[in-house]
Amino acid sequence: MSEHSPEGSGPNGSGPAGPEPDGSGPAGPEPDGIDLDGAGPSDANGTGLKHTGVAESDLVLRRATFRCVAFRDPVDGHEHLALVLGEIGDGEDVLVRVHSECVTGDVFGALRCECGDQLRAALDAILAEGRGMLVYLRGHEGRGIGLVNKVRTQLLQDERGLDTVDSATALGLPVDVRDYGPAARVLRHRGVRSVRLLSNNPAKVRALEEHGIKVAARVPLLVAAHADNTRYLTAKRDRLGHDLPHLNGGGPSAEAPGATRAPQPRSGSGAHGGSGTGNRLPDPGSAEAGE
Ligand SMILES: [Zn+2]
Repeated sequence: MSEHSPEGSGPNGSGPAGPEPDGSGPAGPEPDGIDLDGAGPSDANGTGLKHTGVAESDLVLRRATFRCVAFRDPVDGHEHLALVLGEIGDGEDVLVRVHSECVTGDVFGALRCECGDQLRAALDAILAEGRGMLVYLRGHEGRGIGLVNKVRTQLLQDERGLDTVDSATALGLPVDVRDYGPAARVLRHRGVRSVRLLSNNPAKVRALEEHGIKVAARVPLLVAAHADNTRYLTAKRDRLGHDLPHLNGGGPSAEAPGATRAPQPRSGSGAHGGSGTGNRLPDPGSAEAGE
């Protein structure tokens, strides 16, 4: 939504061939001037290959073959992953999920959060579109407090009935310390200029924009509420400002876990951010707490 001035930032010469400068500016400024190609020593090591902290290969998943891009972020030092499907092309309106690592939900399918369901739904949405990126950010466990602390908050939730926010603050922990800079850097590295973000979290939209990524639209990624995750989803709606309209009816949905309201593939061509591709960005004045 916001316009980003290209001042001080030249076109990104890394990654796949992007569009030539045409006056519309690059994908967005890198506020701190850091890009992934500066992530490692440029020692040719006699191989002629530059060590940049980025490596990629094909990765065959059950759903499709994605381009697997692993990268070591030069700022947070974590090794992250991006899965790319199809041709990014002009880099406009790319369907993107920026997913925070949650080993309990993503790997083991824990039902107390919706992370695993969202991860799979996002891949399905990208596959349906035939083009997009999923950025998987490590070091984001428990909104950045780490796995051990996350499990400590879970204990407080179970034993004292605290929600996801109060259980963190009761332990003296921050509610959300996730950094989306690595996502912005890998999106820029791949030539992405604007995104349609699969997320229910307006704060994530703002965070990406602060890192210079234009968010043309936010596409809801709603997974079914059920007995095990309703309390968590309700806290995300009421305490963290997530847009979860499917909870407005109150109790758990009758839908099976994993059911998802998938976004519709974009229609037409060249109609960037056209209608029918999910919610437009909310009003800046909409009330959100935390995050
Ligand atoms: Zn989770």
